[in-house]
Amino acid sequence: MKKKVGLTSKIFAGLILGAIFGIILSKVPGGFVKDTLLIGGILKLFARVFVNGIRMLVVPLVFVSLVCGSAAIGDVKKLGRVGAKTLGFYMATTAVAITLALILGNVINPGVGLDLSNVMTSEPTIGQASPLVDIIIDMVPVNPIASMAEGAMLQIIVFALLTGISIALVGEKAKPLINIFDSLNEVIMKMVSVVMLFAPYGVFALIANTFATVGFDAMWPLAKYMIGVILALLIHATVVYMGVLSIFGKLNPVVFFKKFAPTMSVAFSTSSSNATLPLTIETAEEKLGVSNSVASFTLPLGATINMDGTAIMQGIAVVFISQVYGIDLTIQSFLTVIVTATLASVGTAGVPGVGLITLSMVLQSIGLPVEGIALIIGIDRLLDMCRTVVNITGDTVCTLVVAKSEGEFDESIYYSETKTTA
Ligand code: ASP
Repeated sequence: MKKKVGLTSKIFAGLILGAIFGIILSKVPGGFVKDTLLIGGILKLFARVFVNGIRMLVVPLVFVSLVCGSAAIGDVKKLGRVGAKTLGFYMATTAVAITLALILGNVINPGVGLDLSNVMTSEPTIGQASPLVDIIIDMVPVNPIASMAEGAMLQIIVFALLTGISIALVGEKAKPLINIFDSLNEVIMKMVSVVMLFAPYGVFALIANTFATVGFDAMWPLAKYMIGVILALLIHATVVYMGVLSIFGKLNPVVFFKKFAPTMSVAFSTSSSNATLPLTIETAEEKLGVSNSVASFTLPLGATINMDGTAIMQGIAVVFISQVYGIDLTIQSFLTVIVTATLASVGTAGVPGVGLITLSMVLQSIGLPVEGIALIIGIDRLLDMCRTVVNITGDTVCTLVVAKSEGEFDESIYYSETKTTA
């Protein structure tokens, strides 16, 4: 824990120092990038190593965590209706979240005013717009190994889902494989944290490079990006969740938020759905009246696969990065983002910062430059705290609605305290 806080401060310091260094360099007469070769070369080295480090992990991370996630979903079969309903709610709310983020992103236009089209360290690969039918056909890989080598995200996702579901269907005999994937998952998560150790330097170099080229102009767009994410999170938590609770659950949402607030503050301070899980389950059962059998199944599943807040960050980030790099997105790109961000939410582990790694998969799926992540990584910890709150709130709201529809809910517990205290 202590280590992570230290790293966060270091990344933040990298951001601030990089910005200051970049602004100073931007004042150097005659331009910086081309003229000061030594500084330019060192910055490029650090920036590239960091960006490549993140890109290196995308394919293994997405594949392995989706196999693990969908292997768990495979068990849902046993729980039949409850599982199907839960999954339906989880996926639907995530798709709403990402759609809301894309709309809000296009209203706020966070990246307008910052032009980095000439600062890219690698060429974007803008996919040719192809008909929707072709996209669906292309999602099924002919050769999954080739898909992985090419980083074809949708194909990797389809193959991973099929693998995970089949593992679950095979059951007992596939147990050794589940153990291998679980252990691989652990190792890859560790690799993520090792690469993140380099983040302060990578962020410093990327931000310095950015500010050296654009000066102060980068400030306002970054602030707009943050405001956009926080606004979308707030709208989703209030309008969407309140709507789901009152329309589908016929429950008073104010009671929910009152009782759920302490759990939210733990999610905020840990930035981890997993770390908050014990408290989420306890609150759902003891304060909100969900039965143990439903809560203990749907909430761990939610902490693993349902990340509405993360999807929101990814939606605004996609708009921000596309605008900053001057890449126009088509309707098809937006549809692809809705699908990939919903699936990225399945593949995002409930631990701090992973949403930013799976963002690279969303960016790659529509040909946006992954190094765009460097722009937002410095301010991501704060947004991670906020989105984790929405992540666990979404899990619990869906759980309540499903529990109520299944008769696995005690209304007297839900309204208990407020009746006596309010
Ligand atoms: N920190 C988030 C969670 O645990 C995941 C992420 O978006 O990074 O829910």
